[in-house]
Amino acid sequence: MTNDDYIIEDTYDPEERFRDLSDVEPNFWENKTLEQLSKREWELLCDGCGKCCLNKIEIKGKICFTNTYCRFLDTKSCLCKIYENRLEKVNDCRDIDINAIREKPRWLPKTCAYVLLDEHKPLPSWHPLITKKAASVHESGCSLVNRELVNETEVEDYENHIVKWEDL
Ligand code: SF4
Ligand code: SF4
Repeated sequence: MTNDDYIIEDTYDPEERFRDLSDVEPNFWENKTLEQLSKREWELLCDGCGKCCLNKIEIKGKICFTNTYCRFLDTKSCLCKIYENRLEKVNDCRDIDINAIREKPRWLPKTCAYVLLDEHKPLPSWHPLITKKAASVHESGCSLVNRELVNETEVEDYENHIVKWEDL
């Protein structure tokens, strides 16, 4: 891993994503299904919580989340450090597509905006599409920011790290 692999630049501002929404339909998340979203709408739907980058283990057919996170997650911003190359570099990193969202047992957190839309549930009031502010997911306490987390490189037994947070 070289520094060149890291793509979060100091100049990257997550707020840019939500600054100008003139190219998407107003409140598209209330009127469209996942299949009907444009590429831009699809990307905007992600709330940036980072919880899909927690490691999970399957026990007796049930997904158990742990408080351990992928080594490439920046836990201050909840951004992936290798976003463009993540699927080639990390074997078990998954693209968030319709199949992943509908997979059973569910491995995405219950607050995941894709899951909510697919289940015909409203987005929470803190979702950046509603607040028009990327940081609102962190301010709400629903992202990984300020949680007790362990980098996967320091983990010996994932079973010792299972968590039952309400928003998973
Ligand atoms: S859990 Fe869902 S909403 Fe949260 S970062 Fe992952 S894909 Fe985005
Ligand atoms: S490589 Fe995948 S699992 Fe790891 S931080 Fe990036 S998006 Fe998350």
